[in-house]
Amino acid sequence: PHRRPMVSKQRFAADLSRCLYDFVVQLLPTPEELAIKEDVRKLLERLIRTIEPESRLLSFGSTANGFSLRNSDMDLCCLIDSEDRLSATALVNMLGDLFARETKFHIKPLPHARIPIVKLSLDPKPGLPFGIACDIGFENRLALENTRLLMCYAMIDPARVRTMVLFLKVWCKRRKINSPYKGTLSSYGYVLLVIYFLVHVKNPPVLPNLQQMPPLRPISPEETNLNGHNVWFFDDINLLRERWQSSNIESVAELLMDFFRFYAREFLYNVSVVSIRAGLLTKESKGWDNDPDRGTARERNRLCIEDPFETDFNVSRCVTRDGLFTIRGEFMRASKILSTRPERAIVALAQLCE
Ligand code: ATP
Ligand code: MG
Repeated sequence: PHRRPMVSKQRFAADLSRCLYDFVVQLLPTPEELAIKEDVRKLLERLIRTIEPESRLLSFGSTANGFSLRNSDMDLCCLIDSEDRLSATALVNMLGDLFARETKFHIKPLPHARIPIVKLSLDPKPGLPFGIACDIGFENRLALENTRLLMCYAMIDPARVRTMVLFLKVWCKRRKINSPYKGTLSSYGYVLLVIYFLVHVKNPPVLPNLQQMPPLRPISPEETNLNGHNVWFFDDINLLRERWQSSNIESVAELLMDFFRFYAREFLYNVSVVSIRAGLLTKESKGWDNDPDRGTARERNRLCIEDPFETDFNVSRCVTRDGLFTIRGEFMRASKILSTRPERAIVALAQLCE
């Protein structure tokens, strides 16, 4: 039988890199979408200030960290700079009523959720073909900080880091392994997997470890403490861009292939913890190991990804045994597709996201 000769690895990687850039560019939010979202944020902030004059409404998550796809939802956080502020539960109820009266959004207040939020949504219409979905939470300052951390990582090497992350976000959505409610992983979790890979697995590293770089001036622990967590990281992006020059020159396609291979075959899920702060850790050292007497701990820590600041928090605690099995299966599938190097890289890309 006729056998097709395999495309050389270099040529395939060059083709695939170009395809990845082209693919991702089409999925970026349009300037109009960004403008509409900013208008929404301002409108809601103005309304909230009629109840809490000292408040600010800030974006976090993908709309603020440089990893946003077209039509992604808005994560907003309300900060109130006054001593005698209302409780989150009371605010959720009052804002729910206010927004229902003053806006065209569908409103769903969740005052008794673990983290009380107000959900807002707008139906699709011409000019806004996918509508808007938005969550407003309160005083979630750690989320603002981890958003800033991810944004700094994105800005150090946008061409490779953003392309990889955005592609993975599309990929995990299309492959249906991006639902914490159904036992798989949040977008935030996937982003941390990528950053960890680029900081700690790649040698030479593509990214520096921003949490371990020496500060420019002495920093006291009080300055960087937020709710008992050390949130310091090197955030002078201009200086970083001058000083950090990675000697890793792999293309985005080579990095992506290696990423899939690493999480398909090398990472030791049973014993290891992904930590972008500290590198590879063991479940045992964090007390996250599978204690047979505590079935729930075991179920919560199938996959372990340490939050960069809330270090006793496993970001992937929602990932179930089945969920992890599926996710690993997808890493293997992706790795296999890319290793067959079809004649045209675009074919591989389409297959990956089928
Ligand atoms: P998408 O575009 O798919 O909405 P996203 O980048 O906004 O992706 P999300 O998973 O929606 O990512 O998370 C948004 C923000 O919420 C994160 O930047 C993080 O601050 C916070 N967050 C989400 N999931 C977790 C989690 N499991 N643990 C801690 N913080 C989380
Ligand atoms: Mg989001």
